[in-house]
Amino acid sequence: MNPKDIQQLLDFDRNHIWHPYASMIDPPPMIPVVGADGVRLKLADGRELIDGMASWWSAIHGYNHPVLNQAVQDQLQKMSHVMFGGITHPAAVELCQTLVDITPQKLDKVFLSDSGSVSVEVAIKMALQYWHAQGHPEKNRLLTLRNGYHGDTFGAMSVCDPVTGMHHLFADVMPKHFFAKAPNHHFDQPFDEAQISDFMQLIDQHHGQIAAVILEPIVQGTGGMRFYAPDYLKRVRQLCDHYDVLLIHDEIATGFGRTGKLFACEHADVTPDIMCVGKAMTGGYLSLAATLCTMQIAEVISQGEAGVFMHGPTFMANPLACAVANASVKLLLSQPWQQTVHNLAAQLREGLSPARELPQVADVRVLGAIGVVELKEPVDLRIVQPLFVEQGVWVRPFGKLVYVMPPYIIDAQALQQLTSAMLRVIGRL
Ligand SMILES: *Cc1c(COP(=O)(O)O)cnc(C)c1O
Repeated sequence: MNPKDIQQLLDFDRNHIWHPYASMIDPPPMIPVVGADGVRLKLADGRELIDGMASWWSAIHGYNHPVLNQAVQDQLQKMSHVMFGGITHPAAVELCQTLVDITPQKLDKVFLSDSGSVSVEVAIKMALQYWHAQGHPEKNRLLTLRNGYHGDTFGAMSVCDPVTGMHHLFADVMPKHFFAKAPNHHFDQPFDEAQISDFMQLIDQHHGQIAAVILEPIVQGTGGMRFYAPDYLKRVRQLCDHYDVLLIHDEIATGFGRTGKLFACEHADVTPDIMCVGKAMTGGYLSLAATLCTMQIAEVISQGEAGVFMHGPTFMANPLACAVANASVKLLLSQPWQQTVHNLAAQLREGLSPARELPQVADVRVLGAIGVVELKEPVDLRIVQPLFVEQGVWVRPFGKLVYVMPPYIIDAQALQQLTSAMLRVIGRL
């Protein structure tokens, strides 16, 4: 694009368009992107950036992938959308069959929705309807972990970390839930029972009011990029069983291989009662999410007062999104993705370990294709974002966290450029 057109675009954006978690009177600077291919974002001025974010966990196969493009084009010729009330279609059936097959065994009823947050709303509603149907309307609260993130709609927001989620702003209209201390952020250190004592106390005291526990298995994403021990997750499952509380796993960030297992709950060999997936399901092409539950939950809900599950989005099971999800999951499973993610982890470890020596750095941690450098002080995005762009990479830090979760297709050289750029930028802070 020529400089004048770029300026016009940026001016309009600045004056009229909200961006995620942004101000409208003092908006952050925007980077205009006009194309994307493989692991590279193409900027309006012709520069290219190596993408370290995979568009928030989702673009696992990179951009402009011929197989995914073809899947969208093929579906487009047949039908881009049709309502899902009273109608079904092959793309949705294929996707749900795949999800039932690849998720833990007992999860075999699928609700498709249009975004991760909505899939969390659906999970919460399922839990509430389940207890209501059994004559326990008083079991209507949730137990979750501090440092969690589950989305931005009201129900989802109410189980996000109360501090980073600024719950006090919405206190009068938001349901109040129970928050247990988050587990220590160490995936492979021995688990000690003290880590779960706060959680135990809460569930022991309040289980009569608690419909479900909701948490992100193994990786707490946006709320802190913390990895925790599989044994913690096992203990949560045991406690939920003991106290008759449902367990919801939010695998929206971790699903489809990101942590080195297809779903993070596999690290602990634990099956939730309800599970949310989204983000990488369509390879980052279109917005789609799913909530899976057990047959038992589905049956109880369907025998309740409403006789149905009370939810139905307009764009439920959008055929284009289902078709590209089918192609993306197939593409993932048709290759040695576990080896790929394992290699990415090894390279991220090697590439980021020199950061440990920097005085600015508090911790460096890697799990699967996720690399995190935690700083001692929060970064100023206005300063740090242009530095990354200068280095030819797209990395978007958050608070004290400088992290990457690149597309799985990133090659060794591009990944090396990415980690070197991280070291250089952090070193300059
Ligand atoms: C991104 C995310 C969500 C919300 O998904 P949206 O598609 O942004 O609504 C929920 N939970 C987790 C763990 C996420 O990472």
